[in-house]
Amino acid sequence: MLFKNIKIIDGGFTAKSNMYVRTEGPVISYIGKKEPDKIDGEEVYDGRGRVMLPAFYNCHCHVPMTLLRGYGEGLDLHRWLTEKVFPFEGRLTAKDVYWSTKLGAMELIASGCASISDMYFFIGDMASSLDECGMKANISHGISSGTESDIRDMKGYKDTMELDKRVKRGEFGGKPGDGSDSRIKADMGLHAEYTSDEKLVRQVADAAYEAGMIVHVHASETKKEHAECRERHGGRTPVKYFSDCGLFKNQVQAAHCVYIEEEDAEIMKSAGAYMVHNPSSNMKLGSGVARIKELNEKGLNIALGTDGASSNNNLNMVEEMHMAAMISRGFTLDANAVSAGNILKMATRNGALCQGRKNCGKIEEGMRADLIVMDLDRPHMQPDFDTVSNIVFSAQSSDIVLNMIDGRVVYKNGEYLTIDRERVIFEANKSFERILGGL
Ligand SMILES: [Zn+2]
Repeated sequence: MLFKNIKIIDGGFTAKSNMYVRTEGPVISYIGKKEPDKIDGEEVYDGRGRVMLPAFYNCHCHVPMTLLRGYGEGLDLHRWLTEKVFPFEGRLTAKDVYWSTKLGAMELIASGCASISDMYFFIGDMASSLDECGMKANISHGISSGTESDIRDMKGYKDTMELDKRVKRGEFGGKPGDGSDSRIKADMGLHAEYTSDEKLVRQVADAAYEAGMIVHVHASETKKEHAECRERHGGRTPVKYFSDCGLFKNQVQAAHCVYIEEEDAEIMKSAGAYMVHNPSSNMKLGSGVARIKELNEKGLNIALGTDGASSNNNLNMVEEMHMAAMISRGFTLDANAVSAGNILKMATRNGALCQGRKNCGKIEEGMRADLIVMDLDRPHMQPDFDTVSNIVFSAQSSDIVLNMIDGRVVYKNGEYLTIDRERVIFEANKSFERILGGL
């Protein structure tokens, strides 16, 4: 596909006008001011009045929780989980997860997302569902302590290894082998400190190391979790305790990190770990404000995520960028606490790196063609004086008119090219009614 006369947000996160961008197969093959030689039969996209930017990488999500949207309002994290979420989730079937994942995928695609890091269960069904939509995803099962004492007997571990086999067979794209360019990847998921014992944390650390997987975990989301961990583990914070259990010998992405302390940030920074900032969820559940200005200045890797649709209540990364920028400023009394360019980078390039996708997340020759186009010809996007600032502070997700993942257009001018919209909404509501009826 050849995009012409289009504004782009380039690899350095600055805007450039009147550019040509060519994608061939899954890759961006040309970027320049000069019109490249024609290729017979190539689709040409007139980008006048539009801007191309990297698609978003949503690094902490529970996409099937779209079914729980609006269910369990007004409760803090611990009451919300035990009184509402866990009983509902106990009735979910593989089929429910398949359709609720597609419902989430529609929302993600329309709001410019290429890829998610997701933690849930029935992960094989999620993988098939997301793959059919053309999305990328790092999927983990949120492993927690239960009746089995050996991780190898746990369903979460077995499902993770089974998904990894499918990835390495090349079922989700990329060459069969190490799964490096696979659209879907398997991560090792540890739900949280408060849902696991020390033996399990050590087993997760070793199993991920053996499999060469990223570890996805919740850490220091609430004050209560952080304080109770200190009580349970001889004064140690969740991050320090995880570190003592060997978790950080792996690539780690830790969601929330609202209450992480100086030493925690040092542990994570020296391990090259990623903190995933979830500002909407942290605000909605009354969990608190993560100190991203300070942590960003310290050089900690930060990516962004929406969390699930039951604690946000949407999966919209445009809104998440806006929220992240706003609260970082309002709570530090600093009008440039984290720059708009930095916020955009967290939502794109940092997210791709967090998922171990080094060739994604930037509009640059040789990178994977995960890109979106926004319409600038909208009242709230004019004048187009500072495009990056407009994207973070003014844009609406409805400004997105095209979403291309690995060179394949999955969404154009409001139409889904990989998803049957009516069927998905029907099936998801059917699942919701059945579960609700049984509770
Ligand atoms: Zn979460």
